[in-house]
Amino acid sequence: MLVNSKKILEKASVSKTCIAQFNINNLEWTKYILEQAEQLKQPVILGVSESASKYMGGFFTIVSLVKGLIYDLNISIDVVLHLDHGKSFDICKKAIDAGFTSVMIDASDKPLNENIKITKEVIEYAKKNNVSVEAEIGGITTNGKAEESMYATLEDCIHFVETTNVDSLAPALGSVHGIYKGKPNINIKLLKEIKEKIKIPLVLHGGTGLNNDIINNCIKCGINKVNINTELQLVFSREVRKFLKKNKKVYDPRKIISSAESAMKKTIKEKIVLFSKNKNN
Ligand code: 13P
Repeated sequence: MLVNSKKILEKASVSKTCIAQFNINNLEWTKYILEQAEQLKQPVILGVSESASKYMGGFFTIVSLVKGLIYDLNISIDVVLHLDHGKSFDICKKAIDAGFTSVMIDASDKPLNENIKITKEVIEYAKKNNVSVEAEIGGITTNGKAEESMYATLEDCIHFVETTNVDSLAPALGSVHGIYKGKPNINIKLLKEIKEKIKIPLVLHGGTGLNNDIINNCIKCGINKVNINTELQLVFSREVRKFLKKNKKVYDPRKIISSAESAMKKTIKEKIVLFSKNKNN
């Protein structure tokens, strides 16, 4: 069933577990994620970036695709369709109007007061439509290296959550989008401080390249949603390259694309199992 992320993330926050967000790029990606989450009986979040939404035709196409797959594949778990890094009120509104059940408003590159103002506008519209809202504080880079000057501060997080009443927050803690250059350095102390002061579900962007120990520690200290995009892209492209090298005469796109199915499903399963285990012990 398509739901917003409020209940499942709050439940994860209480139980010190985590929900996986996998970004989708096409029908196959979406199908593999839904099938694996259903098999494991775990809720899942399908993330869609603005560029992926354009690639797939638009928000309405994606909503129809996801609803169709949920129906045709008899998916019974909770599924959240989430706009990832919406940069403006207008883009969030478009996703909500098309039927997305969750949006991220990412005005983190703006001064804090402006970030608060835009986030509040999005929340007001989202609430009327029963849609959950995630926001970001600090900056998460795409150049492989986190910059300490861009980390979130505890004071900003407290002020932001108190004034916006946002459903979930992604504070920049040292993770990056894409491939890490060097060792990832997540500020666990800052994460613990934030979680202690603001009780809402916290989100970690840049889940690719973080080993199981780091992930476990992050979840134990307050992360309730981890976003994975690059890792599935790496698995997909590696498998398709391998297949095409071995099968030079194959031209059926279904055979080419689905050559990545089992490896992608293995990765999806590993992540869901890792994230959903209780970290109290
Ligand atoms: P990765 O690039 O590390 O997979 O992160 C994805 C992400 O955070 C999307 O918002």
